[in-house]
Amino acid sequence: MPPAAFRGVFTQQEPIDEAAIAGAVAVLRTGRLHRYNVLPGEVSQAALLERDYAAWQGSRYCLACASGGQAMQLALRAYGIAPGAPVLTNAFTLAPVPGAIVAAGGRPVFVETTADLVIDLHDLARKAQESGARLLLISHMRGHLVDMDALVKVLDRHGVTLIEDCAHTMGASWNGRRSGSFGLAACFSAQTYKHVNAGEGGLLVSDDADLMARAIVSSGSYMLYDRHGAAPDLAAFAAARMESPNLSARMDNLRAAILRPQLATLDRNIERWNQRYAAVAAELARVQAIRMPARAAAERFVGSSIQFLVPGIAPDAARRFVAANAALGVELKWFGDPEPRGYTSTHLSWRFVDPQVLPATDRILSDLFDMRIPLTFSAGDCTQIGQIIAHCASELGAVAMAG
Ligand SMILES: *Cc1c(COP(=O)(O)O)cnc(C)c1O
Repeated sequence: MPPAAFRGVFTQQEPIDEAAIAGAVAVLRTGRLHRYNVLPGEVSQAALLERDYAAWQGSRYCLACASGGQAMQLALRAYGIAPGAPVLTNAFTLAPVPGAIVAAGGRPVFVETTADLVIDLHDLARKAQESGARLLLISHMRGHLVDMDALVKVLDRHGVTLIEDCAHTMGASWNGRRSGSFGLAACFSAQTYKHVNAGEGGLLVSDDADLMARAIVSSGSYMLYDRHGAAPDLAAFAAARMESPNLSARMDNLRAAILRPQLATLDRNIERWNQRYAAVAAELARVQAIRMPARAAAERFVGSSIQFLVPGIAPDAARRFVAANAALGVELKWFGDPEPRGYTSTHLSWRFVDPQVLPATDRILSDLFDMRIPLTFSAGDCTQIGQIIAHCASELGAVAMAG
């Protein structure tokens, strides 16, 4: 007997809460949506968000900007990449990550991925040496944190600077230290499918005054950089104010007002995501064919999505597995599909980057399945979803054996 089909919608997030709606309406009533449009003595919602997020994250400075992708581009440009210079990054990531490197004038050098879906530190050391790259834009893809202490050691040894893409690790930590506090700068996203929802939006944090001054000017501050909520002293802008190109990547007050109240509920939501993740994971743990990526005790992750491997699964079996789940209402993505679908494109389809040979990553991606966990699902829903995936995996096993 197949389990009953699931009826939930995998792209449906929770509604914006009433406090955020009230904040948005208050901004709309003023008409002052542009972040620099303030009355004398008024502090804009964008500036207040910067102050609030810097405090939440524990960073000295914060810049609210247009998207997570723009936060990465601003960070990379403010760091300063020579035209065509190599920049290390994960081979397993989302397209805006290599996109940001290319937009900032760099040349992505992809580092292999382990079966636990984190950057391979041996390959990182090798590629740092071979390429001469001085910068790593690490992507904590799908919220998996590598051993951050070991990573920092490898980077120190090779003289490589770290910038973190924390689109899936807002609220995560390693050994009690927040993801996004291990390098020169870190980038977060406020896009609907991440951990706070403004539709679009990005947050760049850093403790480096010079980098942040350049990023703020480049975000499109004109000479209004004194209207920021968590910016360096005005002296830090002496050179940046004339020298940093304006990329017009500001956040507006409406989105900032929607985001500010969400910081208060983030920790509670992380618990709710992790309960749902645990409910799916408990069902998958019963299936022999499924391997879950290992997670270290030091890692506090945010289970806003779940990943699992079916080691050795053939492409046609992977397609049948996805279709069988879909027929029962469960939306899985398969990263092994040579044809990019939805958000699952891989390095093989990023033709704006020089082709690179990544056999370990390719093998892992061909075994890898991914599923979103929206908070509109209950823990009971997640148990049902886990049972459906387990059922489809066992059918797959039966077919494989019969065949
Ligand atoms: C979503 C995402 C980004 C980019 O964020 P946007 O706000 O959509 O530009 C960057 N990296 C990863 C891993 C992401 O998932």
